[in-house]
Amino acid sequence: MRSLRATATLAHAMKYLDEYRDQRIARNLAAEIAQLVTRPWVLMEICGGQTHTIMRYGIDEMLPAGLELVHGPGCPVCVTPLETIDKAINLASRTEVILVSYGDMLRVPGSHSDLMRAKANGADVRIAYSPIEAVKIARSNPDRKIVFLAIGFETTAPANAMAAWQARREGLTNFSMLASHVLVPPAIRALLVSETNRVQAFIAPGHVCTVMGCGEYEALVRDFHVPIVVGGFEPIDLLEAILMLVKQLEGGESRLENQYARSVSYQGNLPAQQIMQEVFEVADQKWRGIGVIPQSGLRLRQEYAAFDASRVFDLEELVVDEPAECISAQVLQGLKKPTDCPMFGMGCTPENPMGAPMVSSEGACAAYYRYRPRALAG
Ligand code: SF4
Repeated sequence: MRSLRATATLAHAMKYLDEYRDQRIARNLAAEIAQLVTRPWVLMEICGGQTHTIMRYGIDEMLPAGLELVHGPGCPVCVTPLETIDKAINLASRTEVILVSYGDMLRVPGSHSDLMRAKANGADVRIAYSPIEAVKIARSNPDRKIVFLAIGFETTAPANAMAAWQARREGLTNFSMLASHVLVPPAIRALLVSETNRVQAFIAPGHVCTVMGCGEYEALVRDFHVPIVVGGFEPIDLLEAILMLVKQLEGGESRLENQYARSVSYQGNLPAQQIMQEVFEVADQKWRGIGVIPQSGLRLRQEYAAFDASRVFDLEELVVDEPAECISAQVLQGLKKPTDCPMFGMGCTPENPMGAPMVSSEGACAAYYRYRPRALAG
């Protein structure tokens, strides 16, 4: 495991899910953090799932004044570019196309509509729980063209790659994917080189590292002298990750540590990485609201061009702007909180979202709306 220290002694001692939600352990960890903190620090959890745990269990409110948690760009729905949604709506409106998508994507606003409205207007939009369902739909509808809206981080990329691989193996000629895949380490790098960056330490996303391993985060620690702890998704996981980061910050250290050692290894899931590499290649990628981040996405390789909806269909290259009122770009970079947005809970609600972070089950705005009703009252 080279230089990586797996320090999750408390997590290692626990076996059952409820132990990771134990209030007494949580209070003890919060007290230990409070004892250590001597000055203000800004920590970022990357993943939207971690944000929801923090809001749901009030972890941010257990921390001492000055220790601030900001929320990162790790919600796949939130960072899918407007242009991708517009292209999906364009494809769905064609009579020969069945557009297959995860349910979360249906209500994400494009520049003028969303897939739910397209479906209500007669488009054949179907919800799938895995990409292989889209392959099955292609198999049983040989006279239609099936397009799978393939979004997500490194966690969903192997299954999407497997769907393209399977379709190619079967010789399906009516299956393609509109891919918008993003990668975590280049996004952290982009945050760290930004002149506006406030973040001093990161909780890396445990599920992404389950696939990719922790090793690729070492370059960030080395290049920016920034502490990174791979964290899990339960309240105790996150408090422990915060404690590990605070120990490093207060000690003037920067290391990569693995709190989520029960799931994450240094190398990750090698077969999953292999299928990703066979089907996808790294490319520049636009992130919604943030812009293009170099080498931060995945696109289908030339060998899979016949399964790339962007190449199969005559899709116009679009450039569209976010609604000016939506500050999601600043929320996703940890510069603002959802409650700083003048539209929060007013013009923008889960029923009538203006931006993706209010729609997605991992979106920061949805987390504040759901778990901080008093922020709405204020
Ligand atoms: S509350 Fe709505 S408008 Fe404001 S940043 Fe969040 S998604 Fe955008």
